[in-house]
Amino acid sequence: MDINTTRTQFPVLDQQVYGKPLVYLDNAATTQKPLCVIERERDYYLHENCNIHRGVHYLSQKATEAYEHARQTVADFIHAKEAREIIFTRGTTESLNLLATSFEHYCIEEGDKVLVTAMEHHSNLVPWQQMVQRHQGQLLVVPMNDKGVLELEQYEKLLKEGPKVVSIAHISNVLGTINPVKEMIAMAHRYEIPVVVDGAQSIAHHPINVQKLDCDFFVFSGHKMYAPMGIGGLYGKAEWLEKLPPYQFGGEMVDKVSFEKTTFNVLPYKFEAGTPNVGAALGLETAMQFLQGLDREEVERNEAQLLTSAIEKLSEIEGIRFIGEAEQRSGLVSFIIEGVHPYDLGTIIDKMGVAVRTGHHCAEPVMTRFGIPGTVRASFAMYNTMEEVEVFVNAVKKAAMMFR
Ligand code: PMP
Repeated sequence: MDINTTRTQFPVLDQQVYGKPLVYLDNAATTQKPLCVIERERDYYLHENCNIHRGVHYLSQKATEAYEHARQTVADFIHAKEAREIIFTRGTTESLNLLATSFEHYCIEEGDKVLVTAMEHHSNLVPWQQMVQRHQGQLLVVPMNDKGVLELEQYEKLLKEGPKVVSIAHISNVLGTINPVKEMIAMAHRYEIPVVVDGAQSIAHHPINVQKLDCDFFVFSGHKMYAPMGIGGLYGKAEWLEKLPPYQFGGEMVDKVSFEKTTFNVLPYKFEAGTPNVGAALGLETAMQFLQGLDREEVERNEAQLLTSAIEKLSEIEGIRFIGEAEQRSGLVSFIIEGVHPYDLGTIIDKMGVAVRTGHHCAEPVMTRFGIPGTVRASFAMYNTMEEVEVFVNAVKKAAMMFR
């Protein structure tokens, strides 16, 4: 794979900020979009735009076909059994809110529990927390060790407390830890507890096979995998999606409506009220086809090399502390430097053209766990290069020197 050729597909990378070439290392927040994705969405609005599922006319049917084709592509991409197991949403956050609300109406009773882990993004924590609290219930939390690895014996103990749902990150957006989700799913299933996997940070970097994982639900965002913002997905086993009640009500999700009574549409439409973001769904399909057209193992290897090199080079900096040192990790490195506030560091290296994220990364409990205000996080994607890692580390070194 020639990274320079790949980079030509991402025009936004080819620019200067403050007179320096942009080094974009904020990919865990959102990835850049390749030309084919941008063009697909543009093409839709130029030639195909129409509301779907409702019209008998040519354009409406064409747009409907394209949208349903995109659903099949998503199903194939994550190896779902059937296309009706894919619900288009705005992204991970909406998918998780959908699940928390649907589970609440389906089975949550007073005092019920939901199990999450200590490394969840707020969007896989707050919806469940608010939901159980409405029923005087409780969030159970799997603890992690100092390296940012989940404690599975504790997990087993917590499963015995009988949570109604388990919801876990596949990869932590702060620590980069790859959680052993397959094993954790099998453990939960021994207690007949359904498992939701938050795949926001995994889907762009590793092939996903929901049938092999045997997860009951898998959620993700398009914008973190080279697709447009405002689109994402929820995979659910058909048997679960059939049982759960709808999340939002309105057009398209209904079967028959009278003032007395409403019956609901079949899957997947039951969960897709209102007009969806058709153009973005087509962009998502194109992003998936773009990824499928690459040697994904090679992409994975390249990203792993960038990470190893960044960690190696950063380790030379005096006073550096890595947050997240799991053996199984991917995509990103988080750290703090003694005596330097992460925000200051991020601001200084920004002036050198380097874009990283600083702060709590929407995972405040992780910060509390490690007793820090925030971290600096560099996260990699398919278009990043070893030279960029070098520029980044040198920028961090220079910035750190300013505080010595
Ligand atoms: N979960 C994880 C692990 C994430 O990294 C993110 C985004 N940072 C989210 C959930 C939320 O994703 P979105 O904002 O796209 O809904």
